[in-house]
Amino acid sequence: MTTKTKYIFVTGGVVSSLGKGIASASIGRLLESQGYKISIIKCDPYINVDPGTMNPYQHGEVYVTNDGAETDLDLGHYERFTSLTTTKLNNITTGQIYFSIISKERRGDFLGGTVQVIPHITDAIKERIRLVPKEQNCDIVIVEIGGTVGDIEGLPFLESIRQMRLEESTEDIINIHLTLIPYIKSAGEIKTKPTQHSVGKLREIGIQPDILLCRTEKHLNKSLKQKISLFCNVNETSVIEAMDAKDIYEIPILYKKQNLDEIIVNLLHLASKRSNLTEWEDTVHKALSPSKKVTIAVAGKYIELQDAYKSIYESLRHGGIANDCRLEIKKVDAEDIENGNLGELFKGVSGILVPGGFGTRGIEGKIEAVRYARENKIPLLGICLGMQAAVIEFSRNVCKLQGAASTEFTPETPYPVICLLEEQRKVEDLGGTMRLGSYACHLKKGTKSREAYGSSEISERHRHRYEFHNGYRLKMEENGLIIAGISPEGTLVEIIEIENHPWFVACQFHPEFKSKPNKPHPLFKDFISASIKVQENNINTHS
Ligand code: GLN
Repeated sequence: MTTKTKYIFVTGGVVSSLGKGIASASIGRLLESQGYKISIIKCDPYINVDPGTMNPYQHGEVYVTNDGAETDLDLGHYERFTSLTTTKLNNITTGQIYFSIISKERRGDFLGGTVQVIPHITDAIKERIRLVPKEQNCDIVIVEIGGTVGDIEGLPFLESIRQMRLEESTEDIINIHLTLIPYIKSAGEIKTKPTQHSVGKLREIGIQPDILLCRTEKHLNKSLKQKISLFCNVNETSVIEAMDAKDIYEIPILYKKQNLDEIIVNLLHLASKRSNLTEWEDTVHKALSPSKKVTIAVAGKYIELQDAYKSIYESLRHGGIANDCRLEIKKVDAEDIENGNLGELFKGVSGILVPGGFGTRGIEGKIEAVRYARENKIPLLGICLGMQAAVIEFSRNVCKLQGAASTEFTPETPYPVICLLEEQRKVEDLGGTMRLGSYACHLKKGTKSREAYGSSEISERHRHRYEFHNGYRLKMEENGLIIAGISPEGTLVEIIEIENHPWFVACQFHPEFKSKPNKPHPLFKDFISASIKVQENNINTHS
């Protein structure tokens, strides 16, 4: 443990979607491999308090922390790349900052003073950033500033990090700027001008980057690096090439090859320890050279979006790595399933995953996907709404409870097999009011879940309002449903399985939030392993 906390601020320029989250997570990985304890914060300049109420089309996945915060999906990258367990402190939004300042103002805390962006908002941002090392006991805090330099919304965050550099010693803070060096096909050249402008914009607000991470499709030769160095006022050795990687998990390795970890620790006046990336390198090697291949269908309703099921896609890949297997993910639109022709839609598929979700659209398709997996003995992993779909399917088609449904979609159903949690009945606000975060769960002996986890007590993250209706437990168990996981008091059904099926597991929680490439989640690992077996034995008779 060093005496003073060190800060690394990561900004982005030129265009959005350059992968600041993955870059920050990769830097975290490198510094951990140097033996430092790190934390990573995401600052989101939007006015929403958190992304919990945002549409996946606007925001992508909502990542849930152990302590029940609904956060930006970049926190998922942070947890997957490093050993960090994030909390609500790791995501700061403009909404949270303004909310706290306006509440203080209403209480009269400012004693008649005018409340302003500088210093009140910027002070609150700095205070939130500094709270992380206090609470999480780390040597280095990486702070990723969302958005692109030049956005109006981002200015208070940039101003705050400018002030911090003045307040802390210069050797305790560095700025890293992620930028784009585009290749102009018609000219056959890569261009540095957008980067010069972006760095110019940063310098206008008083921030001089120490390191440039240059996203590029072509190698940057020495003279190009010299040019960037000269025009951007950054050391040539600190102009790092960030080429498109074959696999995102390769990025820390590509950075390390250019000594990024050494450059950072030197700039921060920290001792350079012998770095150990071996385990990570082994994982990446496995990911890049699998001997098998399996196709898994994800039957969701945001299949055209890359980010809506981010952690699920990553966790599936982790399950693949653990099984020496390359994963082909077939994204099947739940609404297309409603039009029938399941044989065609699931052709060549050896496992079906039904993800979580909200709202009526696509629910009947998800239920049909479960039926198809159950009847054709295709391994199934149902997650949250996916579990609820599995319960509804089983009630309708096995228990013959015609019209069984969730009260979320059909309040007047004769068989409300999924209904509102008792504690949810009086809830009025939408934001942050679900059953959120980690809860313990007890696993029943002899189940696939218990076998996967290798333990009877587990803890997993939740994000839901509705639950399995206990009044139907007995009827379903009599018909072959297995209640494989329950809450410690025995009141909430957390996992269901069915008899006489190669692998059919559906859980009320979100296992995808706890999987890492080098520590694949047991349910994903076993789901993929069962899918490979089904494929190898060719016991799935569906076309
Ligand atoms: N809509 C369901 C509920 O609120 C499922 C939520 C989810 O899949 N995350 O219970």
